[in-house]
Amino acid sequence: MSEHIHSDQTLSDINAAPFISTAKRVVVKIGSALLTEGDTGAIRRDWLNSVADDIAACRARGQDVVVVSSGAIAVGRKRLGLTGRSLRLEEKQAAAATGQIQLAHAFEEALARHDVTVAQILLTLDDTEERRRHLNARSTINQLLSLKVTPLINENDTIATQEIRFGDNDRLAARVAVMVSADALVLLSDIDGLYESDPRTNPDARHIPEVRKVDANVEAMAGAAPVGYSSGGMVTKLQGAKIALAGGCRMAIANGHAHHPLQRLINGERCTWFLPTSEPRTARKRWIGGILNPVGSIVIDSGAEAALSKGRSLLPAGVTVVSGSFERGDPVTIQAADGRVLGRGLSAYGSADAERIAGHKTGEIYQLLGYRGRDEIVHRDDLVLDQ
Ligand code: GLU
Repeated sequence: MSEHIHSDQTLSDINAAPFISTAKRVVVKIGSALLTEGDTGAIRRDWLNSVADDIAACRARGQDVVVVSSGAIAVGRKRLGLTGRSLRLEEKQAAAATGQIQLAHAFEEALARHDVTVAQILLTLDDTEERRRHLNARSTINQLLSLKVTPLINENDTIATQEIRFGDNDRLAARVAVMVSADALVLLSDIDGLYESDPRTNPDARHIPEVRKVDANVEAMAGAAPVGYSSGGMVTKLQGAKIALAGGCRMAIANGHAHHPLQRLINGERCTWFLPTSEPRTARKRWIGGILNPVGSIVIDSGAEAALSKGRSLLPAGVTVVSGSFERGDPVTIQAADGRVLGRGLSAYGSADAERIAGHKTGEIYQLLGYRGRDEIVHRDDLVLDQ
């Protein structure tokens, strides 16, 4: 077992209760399977009221709460009679357009019982990837929180295209958590955390209460994504955990099925906590580290890999292969020669120029390109290595 995983502790050993109650800002992600009755697609109103009570309790403690809720498609497909089979993307988009109204209305009603106002924000992947839109979404959410409004976020499923969409709210919630500098992200789902293997097929599978790094060992514990209404499963939850940890945000996977799921966690109910080990990064680095859709990649040699791990910039001399078509300033994946993804960075050169200077000394840049660009192909301030 890896040193990053603790499966022999109990929750009381790690005393997880303060992980939520002491957070200044909490993002709560609610899965479709919790919000709706599986067969009917009806919203579970009593349960939602209990979540609203928990949110109101957080706010009474002075905590900011942001909700990321799934369920638009699950609710809308029922309304449109699109049941009993898997849907095409256009049908999902139509279902989301219908269901989102009902979803937002249900939250509004549940939180109005505590005089809490709700604001709906629908995001696309690009809204979190593209720096200007990312900053814009962040400042809107900050403004809403300062007005004591609870933002209710979902993916803008109606216009998100197949290639450029999150498709699951686990990664969306993690991106949002890092974007708004939340201290804690809680994924309320239908399972009480990560197990060594799938507990549905192996009843003896051990539960993991604490993870500090999502490495290959941890990833191997997640099975394939399930079929059904939800798009996530453990795979996207672990991807969410990587994003959250890279941004210095702790994350829980918890079973949210019973009433008052947040209060239950505070009371010590079993879940898995993913805990960041490093200092929170600057907002800019958090954005770079969470980019999901880099437009190209740069493969580097082992000397450059060693230099990057010591915190240095990437020089053209260490680059062996440039692939994809990107402009100066675009996000790229940095890969080792054996294909391992080392991290992400913003390239100081477009792909054509990057290719020309790859493998060359910085002093040769002028001669090769006819202009004197930056010495580094990816400056360390524009580089975030995976943790
Ligand atoms: N955005 C989708 C919805 O609201 C859910 C995605 C997911 O299941 O994570 O229906």
